[in-house]
Amino acid sequence: MKKIYTLDDLTFDNRFVEQLPADSESHNICRQVMGACYSRVLPTPVREPKTIVVAREVANLLDLNEAIFTSDDFTRVFAGNRIAKGMQPYAMCYGGHQFGQWAGQLGDGRAINLGEVVNAKKEHWTLQLKGAGKTPYSRQSDGLAVLRSSVREFICSEAMAHLGVPTTRALSLVLTGEKVWRDMFYDGNGAYESGAIVCRVAPSFTRFGNFQIFSSRGEIELLKQLVDFTIRTDFPELGVPSAAVYLDWFSQVCLLTAQMVVHWQRVGFVHGVMNTDNMSILGLTIDYGPYGWMEDFNLKWTPNTTDGELKRYCFGNQPKMAFWNLAQLANAIYPLIGSAKSLQEILNDSYTQHFQHGWQGMMVEKLGLSRFQAETDDDLLSELTHLLQLTQTDMTLFYRQLAKVDFSAEFDTLNLSLLDEAYYTPTTLDNEYKKIRLVWLEKYYNRLRNEGISEVERVSRMNAVNPLYVPRNYLLQNAIDDANNGNYEEIHQLLEVFRSPYQENSRWVKYTQKRPAWANEKAGCSMLSCSS
Ligand code: AMP
Ligand code: MG
Repeated sequence: MKKIYTLDDLTFDNRFVEQLPADSESHNICRQVMGACYSRVLPTPVREPKTIVVAREVANLLDLNEAIFTSDDFTRVFAGNRIAKGMQPYAMCYGGHQFGQWAGQLGDGRAINLGEVVNAKKEHWTLQLKGAGKTPYSRQSDGLAVLRSSVREFICSEAMAHLGVPTTRALSLVLTGEKVWRDMFYDGNGAYESGAIVCRVAPSFTRFGNFQIFSSRGEIELLKQLVDFTIRTDFPELGVPSAAVYLDWFSQVCLLTAQMVVHWQRVGFVHGVMNTDNMSILGLTIDYGPYGWMEDFNLKWTPNTTDGELKRYCFGNQPKMAFWNLAQLANAIYPLIGSAKSLQEILNDSYTQHFQHGWQGMMVEKLGLSRFQAETDDDLLSELTHLLQLTQTDMTLFYRQLAKVDFSAEFDTLNLSLLDEAYYTPTTLDNEYKKIRLVWLEKYYNRLRNEGISEVERVSRMNAVNPLYVPRNYLLQNAIDDANNGNYEEIHQLLEVFRSPYQENSRWVKYTQKRPAWANEKAGCSMLSCSS
């Protein structure tokens, strides 16, 4: 395949800006943008950019040759200091419901799309700089991003991709050489942090909120244009847009969203801010902010202190919140459809049913079983959920250790000490807990017998869906602390570890460790906010 050695040789086909209405005002000042899908805006040049890391897998999607990663030009372009040939930068106009309330216009306040690359396989990949300066949508903020949150976004996007979870990707992480003021917990204890820019890559960055904004303003013609465009570009298999195709499209968005959330529940990812402006129309995980990874299993857990009281977006609520968001999308496109009943039916069939089947299938797969059987597995799964919350149990390690127990042995001789690894305080397990665990294990044991599956097969099935290496918040925080001291080794190391999340590697024992005690109360490890 032909490789690209200079960024000016990338091929662009900027469909979004060429086929949709632009903001007629060209001044980059904050305002309500009416009658347009986007505003043209240039990234703000930065003082002293420096590339810290590039994901070669993402560069590959763009056909970039690795030799250019170290070039000054790469840094200039992905810091926003130079616009390569064919790029037509723009910020999108969108709205959204934030924590259940309609927030009006939001938009790309600190994201600037550079354009749509077409690769040798004719795939379109939009490049987007996050943290490249103000846009008309920046409201009261600075349009910038800090190193801390950019490391989190970069590592987690790539980890998710390697875990098999639908996600936007991250090509590069560049330091700007500038300082950015942040009050991390909005408590008056602000500080200067290093500025950084991540180049995100996805087939499209369109969000539910892109449709909502037009509907909320009664700009129905614009709504139709964007829906038609989205179907033509992102869902071409659905055919020429029409009233019937709109319903098929909504159904497809429901399916993709359900699949994404099933994956989140599988790997223990908590998004933290499932506002409708953070929901991708392609069912991609998007906008990595105060997300977290389930360590001790708890349905009520959210890493986002901003949501600490209501816990709207906690782990156990994610499926329901996705439904709520899809219902807002349905409301937004209703003017094009005119039948609330059809939309309601699709929500139930394509989301609720699909999520439920997907979740059941995924959960039994985590246990090494091939198929969900309601008679036995409803109880098996609900009792497991209960068990995991009785004592602090690391979700990731629990499934990996359960795979290690040899279930071909007699039930009374199962080596349960293998599970100790998964508990935060293994010495305090009481008899009551052990009794409940034994009851569950016996059910599981009998279920395995009844499935007639070999141990080899069970272990290989389980280890293919239960990751061992996940971006635990404390691991990211270690890499961030080092990076803030000018050492970027750990970022490279984490990227490497998360390339093979299911494959145990004896060199990487330290990346499997439960959250250490020091991380329990440390900012960035157990507490995060939207400030990024
Ligand atoms: P988020 O919570 O990151 O999804 O952001 C919600 C909205 O706030 C979006 O419109 C963002 O573009 C905007 N936003 C977040 N941080 C900034 C910032 N530092 N500067 C400008 N806009 C921002
Ligand atoms: Mg967002």
